[in-house]
Amino acid sequence: MVSSNGLATSQPLFSFGLISDVQYADIPDGRSFLGVPRYYRHSLLILQRAVKEWNSHQRHKFVINFGDIVDGFCPKDQSLDTVKKVVDEFEMFTGGPVYHMIGNHCLYNLPRSKLLSLLKIHTLDGRAYYDFSPVPEYRFVVLDAYDISAIGWPQDHPKTLEALKILREKNPNEDKNSPTNLEGPERRFVMFNGAVGKEQVEWLDGVLLESTNLKQKVVVCCHLPLHPGAATEETLLWNYDEVMNLIHRYNCVKVCLAGHDHKGGYSIDSHGIHHRVFEAALECPPGTDAFGYIDVYDDRISLVGTDRMKSTEMDFTPPS
Ligand SMILES: [Zn+2]
Repeated sequence: MVSSNGLATSQPLFSFGLISDVQYADIPDGRSFLGVPRYYRHSLLILQRAVKEWNSHQRHKFVINFGDIVDGFCPKDQSLDTVKKVVDEFEMFTGGPVYHMIGNHCLYNLPRSKLLSLLKIHTLDGRAYYDFSPVPEYRFVVLDAYDISAIGWPQDHPKTLEALKILREKNPNEDKNSPTNLEGPERRFVMFNGAVGKEQVEWLDGVLLESTNLKQKVVVCCHLPLHPGAATEETLLWNYDEVMNLIHRYNCVKVCLAGHDHKGGYSIDSHGIHHRVFEAALECPPGTDAFGYIDVYDDRISLVGTDRMKSTEMDFTPPS
C-alpha cells in the first residue's frame, strides 16, 4: 500500500464499517422540508448491501451506526417492529459488535427507555453515551447528542424542561423546528437538535484525561456535527462550542465523526482535528449507495466510501 506522499505504509491496526441516517420506513418516497428526495424503502436495501460487503471483507472489527435508523414518518403503530427490523439487518454483520447511537428520528418513534434496549445501549438512567477501546492504541467515544432534548424524555422530565428553556431563550419562532430569523450558528437552536448535558461533559473530560494518560488516540462519534465548517449550521449540537473547547484542552482527539446533515461534509478545525459528517443512506436514489469503512492506522484514518459517500484521508500530522 502507498500513501499520498508516496511512502509505503503498514497494514491498518484495524478497520470498521459505518453507515448513517438509514431512516427506513415502509412508506412511499417523499421529500425533506427543503425538497430533497427521500427514498424510505430503498434505504434498507443499502443497509443490506453494506452488511453484505462488510462481511465479504472479513476484517472489520465492528460497525458503527451514526443514528436515525427509522424515519419520523414511520406509522407509530409500526415503530417498534420497524426499529427491530433495521436492528436485525445490522445484526447480520458477522465480524463483531454493532455500536448504535440515537438520533432525533429514532426518538420521534420510540421513547428513549424502549429505544436503548432495542439498540443494546446498556447504560444507567437512560443515558446513551459510552466509550470503548477496540485496540490499546485507540478509544472511541460515542456521545449522546439528545441528552438535553425536547424529544425522547418524558414531557415533565428535567432534561425536557431544560431543553424547552433553551429553545424559548434562543429561538423566537412559534415552530421550534424552524430556524427562521436565526443567523449563523444560532440556527442550531431548533427542536430537532439537542445538547450534551453537564454530567456527560464531566464524563467526557474524565475519558479524555484517561486516554491522554494511556497515550490513546480518540475518535469522537456523535449523531450531531461538532464543527460549523463541516456541516450546515442548523444541524450542529447546541453546545458544540463547549464540547469542542473541552476537546481542544487535550491532544488525544484526532477525529470527530457525525451524521444528521444528510449532504455530508468535511473540515479540519483550528487545532488540526478532522471533522467528517457522513452522507445519508436515505437520500440515495435507487441503485446507489452511501456506506463505507475506515482503515485505522497509527498516524491517520482512511475512509473508503461507496458511491455517494466520498472517500477521505485524514492524516494526523499536518504536511510539512
Ligand atoms: Zn438526525
